[in-house]
Amino acid sequence: MAVKVCKFGGTSMADGNVINNVKSIIESDVERRFIVVSAPGKRFSGDIKVTDLLYACYDELEAEGSCEKSFAPVCNRFRAIVKELGIDINIDQILELTRRRIVKERSRDFTASRGEYLSARIMAEVLGAKFIDAEEVIFFDKNGFLDGEKSYKAISAAASGEKLAVFPGFYGKGANGKVKTFSRGGSDITGAVVARAVSATLYENWTDVSGFLACDPALVPSPKRIKMLSYKELRELSYMGANVLHADSIFPVRKANIPVQIKNTFRPQDEGTSIVPSSIYRPCGNVVTGISGKKNFTVIFIEKSLMNSEIGFMRKVLTVLEEACVSVEHVPSGIDTMSLVIANEALEGKLETLLEGIKRAVQPDTVRVIENISLISTVGHGMSSSVGTSARLFSAIADAGINIKMIDQGSSELNIMVGVSDDDYEKCIKAIYFEFFGK
Ligand code: ASP
Repeated sequence: MAVKVCKFGGTSMADGNVINNVKSIIESDVERRFIVVSAPGKRFSGDIKVTDLLYACYDELEAEGSCEKSFAPVCNRFRAIVKELGIDINIDQILELTRRRIVKERSRDFTASRGEYLSARIMAEVLGAKFIDAEEVIFFDKNGFLDGEKSYKAISAAASGEKLAVFPGFYGKGANGKVKTFSRGGSDITGAVVARAVSATLYENWTDVSGFLACDPALVPSPKRIKMLSYKELRELSYMGANVLHADSIFPVRKANIPVQIKNTFRPQDEGTSIVPSSIYRPCGNVVTGISGKKNFTVIFIEKSLMNSEIGFMRKVLTVLEEACVSVEHVPSGIDTMSLVIANEALEGKLETLLEGIKRAVQPDTVRVIENISLISTVGHGMSSSVGTSARLFSAIADAGINIKMIDQGSSELNIMVGVSDDDYEKCIKAIYFEFFGK
């Protein structure tokens, strides 16, 4: 029988009412057997996510040795949820035990993980399902990365024979035996890991939007919805800022060719977006699938005559970066030029050291720094086979009066990246969208 893993995000767990809708969604399909939940999110704009309340608890604990004041709003959220649901669970006792363990563990990750823990305990009760603690089945290695093989084995053993089980998202156990979390939004990764472990036929990711849009709706009113994306397109779009799904969540499912379906808890009738392996990807008829971008990059532009024939030139430059512990996002190059595109946050106070190091290592003719650069990526499988796509892209940008400072076409021909000034970011995304999707 087909098996679906369903992950419900924070807004789907925000209050008793929504949780009851989630229950109906799960119960309407017997294939929905393994459920992963986030901590309760915002109920309205201006509300505070439980995970953020918990980070505040940890700060209070560090500063004052207890977290009494900040833990009170967490208790209020969960008590209200339990009351709305009318379930028979001793929430006061669970909350008190949680508080004591937070004080005992004194760990930021442990404290933050309790939102998902409590959410999953409640969801298991609502569904009459088995609660499987992520602490027992999701593992990290000594470098802090997910230990996939160990986790898949443990999950599959814990899930075997269960008709319906609930896992808390976002955390697992570190190599030191302590609870450790993924980065923010990491319950998406837990969902993908569980999907892989139980050999799911589908990973449904239930959120509060009806899938991916072709670009940020804050920039273009009602952009076109993307019905189908390949894993590769998703990787490009989410790496560049499209944030419906955590950028790392694709790796576990991609290896096993498990498709992902983005669904909207508040509009379950909407089709959403499917994310599929390239082998079953069907082009949507559009040359471009989506456009996304990020601000705040710095480009270090290096020029030296005969750079192309100087053996080891690139290695020497990249070694300077490695020694300064700076990761580089892109390295577009020409015959005598090489550019290093670096996120501003990775540079933090290291620019001068890098420039000195590069000058010493390769004696360039010129080194120039271009600051406040935005990268904009236009993504789509259709682009490689369609003649004139880049001409259309660059004319649209030129017609909008925008100066392109850098171009980088990924070798997969799946995307074309342009670097423009931060001030032109919004204008550039709009110009590209209107060119390929119409006004
Ligand atoms: N609750 C965590 C966060 O707010 C993880 C998640 O929701 O995926 O980031």
